[in-house]
Amino acid sequence: MSNATEDKQEFTFQTEIAQLLKILSHSLYQNRDITIRELVSNASDALDKMRFLQLSDEKLRDEVPLAIHLEPDKENRVLTIRDNGIGMTREELVSNLGTIAHSGSLDFLNKLSGSAEKDLSLIGQFGVGFYSAFMLADRVEVLTRSYQEKTGWKWESAGTGSFSIEPAEELERGTQIRLYLKEDLDEFAEPLRLKTVIRKYSTFVPHPIHLEDEQLNDQRPIWVEPKSQLTDEQYEGFFQYLSHRHNEKPLWHLHLSADSPIQFHTILYCPETNFELLGFGRNEHGLHLCAKRILVQDDCRELLPEYLRFVYGIVDSADLPLNVSRQALQDDTVFLKIRKVLVKRVLDHLGKLAEQDADRYWKFYQQFGPVLREGVTQDFENRVRVAELMRLHSSQASEPDERTSLAEYVGRMKEDQKQIYYLCGTDLGSMGRSPNLEIFRKNDLEVLYLIDPLDEVILTNLGEYESKRLMSIDAADVELPESVKSTEEGGDDTDSAKSDLSPAGFQRVLELFRQALGDRVEEVRESKRLTDSPCCLVNPSGNVSAQLQRVIQMTNQDYEMSKRIFEINPRAALIKRLCDLSANPDHNQFVKDCGLQLFSNALLLEGMAPDTEELVDRIKGFMEELATKRSPIIT
Ligand code: ADP
Repeated sequence: MSNATEDKQEFTFQTEIAQLLKILSHSLYQNRDITIRELVSNASDALDKMRFLQLSDEKLRDEVPLAIHLEPDKENRVLTIRDNGIGMTREELVSNLGTIAHSGSLDFLNKLSGSAEKDLSLIGQFGVGFYSAFMLADRVEVLTRSYQEKTGWKWESAGTGSFSIEPAEELERGTQIRLYLKEDLDEFAEPLRLKTVIRKYSTFVPHPIHLEDEQLNDQRPIWVEPKSQLTDEQYEGFFQYLSHRHNEKPLWHLHLSADSPIQFHTILYCPETNFELLGFGRNEHGLHLCAKRILVQDDCRELLPEYLRFVYGIVDSADLPLNVSRQALQDDTVFLKIRKVLVKRVLDHLGKLAEQDADRYWKFYQQFGPVLREGVTQDFENRVRVAELMRLHSSQASEPDERTSLAEYVGRMKEDQKQIYYLCGTDLGSMGRSPNLEIFRKNDLEVLYLIDPLDEVILTNLGEYESKRLMSIDAADVELPESVKSTEEGGDDTDSAKSDLSPAGFQRVLELFRQALGDRVEEVRESKRLTDSPCCLVNPSGNVSAQLQRVIQMTNQDYEMSKRIFEINPRAALIKRLCDLSANPDHNQFVKDCGLQLFSNALLLEGMAPDTEELVDRIKGFMEELATKRSPIIT
C-alpha cells in the first residue's frame, strides 16, 4: 500500500452530498434538535450491529457494556457523541461519509419541497442522518475504530466541498462524533438542553444513553409488556421512534402477543398520512425484527406483503434463528408463519375498524386504500378479504362522500340479480349522465362508480364476489335480472312508444349510420338498454373499459383502443323522426350526419374528445340549415 493510508488524505464529497450539505447547513435551521436524534440513532444502529455480532462470535464479546455517551464541553463549544458499536474501517469511512450518497439522501434531494417543516420531516424518512451534523457544527470530526481493526481513523470536514482522513492512535472500538458547534449554538453543549432533547426524541433507543453519569432513557421494550400497562403517550412515542415521524400520531396500532404455535410479540402502527400520495415516492421501509429483544433487522420488508408497506412496527420472537442470513431467514418456517399471522391480524383489525368506526376507517382508507387494494391482485389467499375492505362510490349514495363496500352492495341486490354492476369514468358528474345508466336507474339497480382506473383493474382481476360476476354496465354481456327484463319487454310504455315506429325505417337508419361511421365502430345495432337517450356506446365482451384503455394509451402511444358497439334507441323521439325522414333518399346525407353527430355526442359524454374539426364543421352545417329555415319577418 502507498503511504496514502498512513498520512492525511483529502477527498471531495460526491456532488449530491455537497449539495445536501449546503442545504442542511444553510436553509434548514428551524429544528436543530433532530441532529442529536439522528446521531444518537446512528450510534444505536452501530450498537445493534455489535450486539448481533457478539452473539454469534464469542471472540467479539467483552466486559464493556454497549452504550451511548453524550459529552458536552461547554468551554470549547464541542459536543461529542460516543458509542462503542462496530465502528468503521477506512474504506467504510470513505464510502459511508462522503463518496456514496445513500439512495435515501438522493431521494431527499429530489423531494425537497422548499417548506422547511416538510423538508425536516423528510430528513428522518430518507435517512440523511449523519450529514445533519452540519446543521449544528461548522466543523465535524469522526474518530472511529472498527471491531475488525487495530488502528483507528480520524475523518474531518468543515462541510464545504471536501473531507480528510488520517490515522488515529489509541482509539477504543466504536465511533465518536465531535461537533464543533456554530457560534450561536452553544446551547447544544448545555447538559440540560441535551437532556430535554434526548427525553423528547430518544426514549425508545434500545441502548443506554448516558450524560454526566445519568442514564437518560429507560429503554423498556414496550412490546413485551401487557397492553393494560401502557399509555397512549408510550404508544405514540414508540411510533415516532420507529417511523421518524415526529409530528405524527399513529392512526391506529395493533399490539399482539402470541404464545402458540409460535411465540412472538408485536406492535404494528399505521401512520396518519400516506407519503406516497403526497408524491414522496414509494414507501420503502420494513418492520424491526427482533429475536429475544435483539434487533436482527431494522428494515425487514418481507414480514408483510407489499400492499401493507405503510405499516411500521416491531416483531420480536424467541423462536427466530439469530445467526442466519437475510435470505435464509425469509425461507424460515417460523418467519413465514409469523408473516401469515401478521397479515391475518392486520386484515382482521381493518375489518373490525370498518365495522365499528366507519369514520375512522374512511380516514384510513382515503390515505391507504390505494395501497391496500393492491392486495386483491397480489395476495391470492386474502384477495377477497382485501376486496371487502375497498370502499367505492355508488349510484345509491345520498351524499357525494358516501362510499360502499362490496358486501353492502350484495346485501342490497335484487333477489334475482346475478351480477354486480359498475361503471367506469372520470368524474361522478359525467358518469351520472351516462345513457348506459338509464335502464339501471329506472329499475333501481345499484351501480358502483369507479373513478379510479385502478379500481377497475382490481375488480376485473377479482372477477366475482360472492359468486356474483363483476360487470361493467357498458359491456355487451351485461345481464339484467329476469324480473327487470320481463317488465321491459311487456311494459305498456315501451309497447306504445314503439308502436308508431316503422321497422323498415329503423333498419334504413341503422344502415345509414353504418355507412357513415364505417370502421369507427364495431357494430351499429338496436339498443335494449336505453329508455330516453337516442344512443349509447357499448363495449364488446372481453374488452377492458374505454376509460382504462385511455389510461393505457396515455402511457403507450401505439396502443389502439378497441372499437365499440354503437347502440341506437328506436324509442327516442329523434330516432323515430329520422326513421320517417329516411323514407326519402334526399335526406340520406342528413341522417348520416346525425349518426356521426350522435356518435360524437356519446364520446363527449364519456369525456373523450372526438375529432374536433369535423365535429365543429358538422354543427356549423346544422346551424346553417336551421338558420335558413327561419324567417326574419315577425309574425
Ligand atoms: P443512514 O444512517 O441512513 O445509513 P447516515 O448518513 O446517517 O445514513 O450514515 C451513513 C452510514 O455511516 C451508516 O449507514 C453507517 O454505516 C455509518 N455510520 C454512521 N454513524 C455511525 C456510527 N456511529 N458507527 C458506525 N457507523 C456509522
